[in-house]
Amino acid sequence: LLSVSGLRKAFRGTRVLDDIYLDVAKGEVVALLGPSGCGKSTLLRCLTWLEPPDDGLIRIDGRPFGREQVGATIRRQSGRAIDAMRPRIGMVFQQFNLWPHLSVLENVVRAQVVVLRRSREAATARARTLLADLGLGALVDRFPYALSGGQKQRAAIARALAMDPALMLFDEPTSALDPERVGEVLALLRDLAATGMTMIVVTHEIGFAAHVADRVAFMDGGRILEDGPAKTVLSTPADPRLAAFLDLVR
Ligand code: ATP
Ligand code: MG
Repeated sequence: LLSVSGLRKAFRGTRVLDDIYLDVAKGEVVALLGPSGCGKSTLLRCLTWLEPPDDGLIRIDGRPFGREQVGATIRRQSGRAIDAMRPRIGMVFQQFNLWPHLSVLENVVRAQVVVLRRSREAATARARTLLADLGLGALVDRFPYALSGGQKQRAAIARALAMDPALMLFDEPTSALDPERVGEVLALLRDLAATGMTMIVVTHEIGFAAHVADRVAFMDGGRILEDGPAKTVLSTPADPRLAAFLDLVR
């Protein structure tokens, strides 16, 4: 479903992503681990073209995203082509990023109407169903400031799912939550995984990686150093940097 090859990104000459290769099959859940500053958020942002990669090819559902190869040359797609593909990927951030001036319901409705050109009725129906499924049915008229961290994160997840993405990216979705709220969001991710959603989850929750992820990829210094079945990678890390990282977070 997702295929990434040769992805590179530098900020003012400092290389942050260095030749990233990553394939994710439909329905697969990949936990992306790595120390602070290793490039995890930058990788997710490049996958959505929120941050334009300097180099490399991304394919989603077999279709090139952002750059395409035409004969021997690689061509950047138009902004409009990129915008058209972007809703295929849902992204959920550490800090929720809900629109503060919109109700929970409107947060979930707005992009469906503006980006997907759904009718307001269809968008509202979809939003109400999703919010109810995610346990927020009673809170649809609240504004984000009046929600707990866990509720905000569930609303942000509902907003992303409303776009019917092929792939969901989560950037440390529980690390801004109070410890007692972490479990509710992890349970939601586990349920989402069980529905067959394809997901990449940046997380320091090793328990989640071990029990929910099919695969674990470990990044350091802008590269993916290890990538394999979750149980194998976590129990017998081959790279000493992964072993050291696991000792720190476990
Ligand atoms: P963390 O676990 O702390 O979230 P991370 O793995 O997500 O870290 P990134 O946020 O991707 O790391 O950052 C990777 C490197 O790129 C860091 O050195 C960071 O300072 C740098 N960086 C990220 N965004 C920018 C930017 N817009 N301009 C310049 N440097 C940046
Ligand atoms: Mg980050």
